[in-house]
Amino acid sequence: MDTRAWLQTLVGFDTTSRNANMGLIETVRDALSAQGVQSHLSYNVGGNKANLFATLPAQDGQTQGGIILSGHTDVVPVDGQTWQSDPFTLTERDGKLYGRGAADMKGYLAVALAQVPAFLAMPRSKPLHLALSYDEEVGCVGAPVMLADLKARGVRADGCVVGEPTGMRVVVAHKGINVFTCKVHGRAAHSSLTPQGCNAIEYAARLICRIRDLADQYRDHGPYEALYDVPYTSVTTNLIQGGIAVNTIPQDCQFTYEFRNLPGMSPETIQAQVEAYVRDELLPRMRREFEGAAVDIRCDARAPALEASEQAAISQLVQALAGARAGEAAKVAYATEAGLFHQAGIPTVVCGPGHIEQAHKADEYVAIEQLQRCEAFLAKLGQSLI
Ligand SMILES: [Zn+2]
Repeated sequence: MDTRAWLQTLVGFDTTSRNANMGLIETVRDALSAQGVQSHLSYNVGGNKANLFATLPAQDGQTQGGIILSGHTDVVPVDGQTWQSDPFTLTERDGKLYGRGAADMKGYLAVALAQVPAFLAMPRSKPLHLALSYDEEVGCVGAPVMLADLKARGVRADGCVVGEPTGMRVVVAHKGINVFTCKVHGRAAHSSLTPQGCNAIEYAARLICRIRDLADQYRDHGPYEALYDVPYTSVTTNLIQGGIAVNTIPQDCQFTYEFRNLPGMSPETIQAQVEAYVRDELLPRMRREFEGAAVDIRCDARAPALEASEQAAISQLVQALAGARAGEAAKVAYATEAGLFHQAGIPTVVCGPGHIEQAHKADEYVAIEQLQRCEAFLAKLGQSLI
């Protein structure tokens, strides 16, 4: 199958993160198997989602070293979006291919899969690996399972290219992401009897304002890194629920906040400030009203920042092959799985077809010209391993 046929196949699977991805994974596994390439699957706890890792050995059978081409298989929901055509049917208009995941990031996977026969025919001295993950869009949940599996099996690689949509620019650094859910537990009472209650919404609001103060502090005082579109660590509360009736003091309130840290800033240090405020000020105050008051904070998702060196071998190689000019390497605010690969000791950069601005929205698309640039790039990457 060529790139377009692969993209059509991949987009045809509704791999919204809440769904299983096994249909897609099995299709890829079978297609690779038909070419003599064995896949290794690592599963989620429920057994309905899997990562796929496959090695295209070097000519002499060597499976260690070489480069990993990595991408996630899940996509964000289309709920509430108005599309001009069915999001799960690849549709061409004006040189663009529309479909959920066309840019983020089934386009890159399609290019990589379509080139497997060519990769296999090359007399390479080093292997190439394909790494497809599940549940990236809900906080990089699948990739750590795959990386643990690679470690357990002793698989090594010299570098990795995560094909998130960068417009085929080379991204050497991105922020980390950390998502927390906070549950504030007070005491319910009839709203006319305020001294008997402990108002969970009001105390949650205090904490949210404190989190906002922290955000303002980073905005106003740094640290800064000018190459990012938002050049400081951002902190924001994005979801809240609480209360049951207009005349009842709310017992519970729950909210979700995130911070996106610059590389070099420890997420633990940021979170410690939130926890210190809860411990030293908020909880003592709540407990004066109700001894059983509680504030529980749980980390839902976390992906480390990426900070690869522009001088690293993989950065130099990808930059040369992708036709980027020296000094053009970029830093971006969105998080990817690259930070996890990097943390696992595999030098990693991000470079893929399409643009992040076209992702996650209605009428997501990838331009055919972007796919062609990626085809040329991956062909050269394969040849660099000869
Ligand atoms: Zn993505």
